[in-house]
Amino acid sequence: MLVDSFGRVATDLRVSLTDRCNLRCSYCMPPEGLDWLPKPDLLTAEEIVRLVTIGVERLGITEVRYTGGEPLLRRELVEIVAATARLRPRPQIMLTTNGIGLARLAAPLAEAGLDRINVSLDTLDPAVFLRLAHRDRLPDVLDGLAAAHRVGLTPVKINAVLMRGVNDHEAVPLLRFSLDHGYELRFIEQMPLDAQHGWRRENMITADEILGRLKASFDLVGDDPRDRGSAPAELFLVNGGPARVGVIGSVTRPFCGACDRVRLTADGQIRNCLFATEESDLRTALRSGASDDDLAARWISAVGRKKAGHGIDDPSFLQPARPMSAIGG
Ligand code: SAM
Ligand code: SF4
Repeated sequence: MLVDSFGRVATDLRVSLTDRCNLRCSYCMPPEGLDWLPKPDLLTAEEIVRLVTIGVERLGITEVRYTGGEPLLRRELVEIVAATARLRPRPQIMLTTNGIGLARLAAPLAEAGLDRINVSLDTLDPAVFLRLAHRDRLPDVLDGLAAAHRVGLTPVKINAVLMRGVNDHEAVPLLRFSLDHGYELRFIEQMPLDAQHGWRRENMITADEILGRLKASFDLVGDDPRDRGSAPAELFLVNGGPARVGVIGSVTRPFCGACDRVRLTADGQIRNCLFATEESDLRTALRSGASDDDLAARWISAVGRKKAGHGIDDPSFLQPARPMSAIGG
């Protein structure tokens, strides 16, 4: 098992399939520039499946989430999902995507064994989308959401990040849209993980602010926090339910004490935290002929060194050198 020195057990593996993306969300990437990882450094599909297999069969991983960068850009995505679905014990398989190309891929992904999906949608206004993501692709995202719903990847979850002065007036419209379409919306506080290091605390829309705005238009009743487990979202019944909305206060309401996540980057590094400043290189070991036992031992040791919390509030906090797009959100 992947146990750290505080007794937390990692069972949720997030795998970044690529650091590339077809959007440029300003909380994640600069509008232009940003070098991609060199191709030879990226794990091949076979290497990814081998490491995921070790995680599931030997190390107690029960959930595998594919992400990126934009995972739909990875040509072998459907095959990787299918190979993951053949593992025993069969893990839950999830995907986080910006939705571009999902209209075409939702059905093959569901057939391959994908269980659930999160689609990022920060605005319903094409002009705001262009300003925030620097590409004019809102219709593709909406088509992708509809396709995911149609093929039964339900409940389709939406991830939204609000930025002050950009889309923070859209909390209520985003929730109305989600209720109307049967999607489950989660707001995520903006974290200091953008490649250009542009995060400023005063620009972050906090969980308290988000809830304040929603409560002006909806009746929200919080779930019992004891039911939350390791899930980062605080969930609220909307207007008596059954629909719910989630708020993930990653910065102001950290959930590090219950964290059950571990990450594998597209270039084969184990990260025990989004905010870790050190990584463990499985790729070099794997390509030097390491056995499954050896790779598992390196992975166990990497998780063992996980820190108690992300420490964003510590004066000594250092933003990790790797941006979110290269870590796998
Ligand atoms: N490209 C895919 C997408 O956008 O869904 C997957 C990768 S993206 C890095 C994963 C999630 O991280 C998205 O929901 C995105 O909104 C979120 N994210 C990216 N940068 C963030 C930041 N600085 N703070 C909070 N969430 C962020
Ligand atoms: Fe791309 Fe996702 Fe980052 Fe937006 S959040 S730039 S879609 S990786």
